[in-house]
Amino acid sequence: MEASIGEVLVSILVQFEIGEFESERNPPRHEPIKLSELSLVKKAMEQWGIAIKFVPDGACKCHAHFDKERNEIQLFESDVKSFLHGLAHAAIERLSGTITHTYHHWQEIMAELASCALLEILMNESDEKLSNSYSVIVFNSVALKLTPMEACIEVFAEVEEIIELILA
Ligand SMILES: [Zn+2]
Repeated sequence: MEASIGEVLVSILVQFEIGEFESERNPPRHEPIKLSELSLVKKAMEQWGIAIKFVPDGACKCHAHFDKERNEIQLFESDVKSFLHGLAHAAIERLSGTITHTYHHWQEIMAELASCALLEILMNESDEKLSNSYSVIVFNSVALKLTPMEACIEVFAEVEEIIELILA
């Protein structure tokens, strides 16, 4: 049976909390897939009308920026997880009527956590860069004067909503 979105999120939080990452014990079996092979790219473009632009020397604090005026995901790195981070920002924008965590640091935590869970759901294997994501979440949690666990629990339900919208 496939794990639910909530179960995948919990397994990620457990790895954050104990500081041991599944990919260290159980490295991914496959070559990472290319962005062009990901069906969500086509879906984002066709269903949400989103443009995807690669900006290799763009200056940004995170992996991917969503420009809502242009309806465009701007990628600073061309890997799948960066795209998923940008897509989560786009989903947050589409859910702006219901998402209550509007502050920048909250949105970075939500986008990063959503990208981790989406990667595991789509690839069905452990995320090699989960420890990098943990660092991103620690950085933003500290700015909110919270522990990473407190911050992740706080946005848990909204991250589930973001992922549901992306996979719908
Ligand atoms: Zn971001």
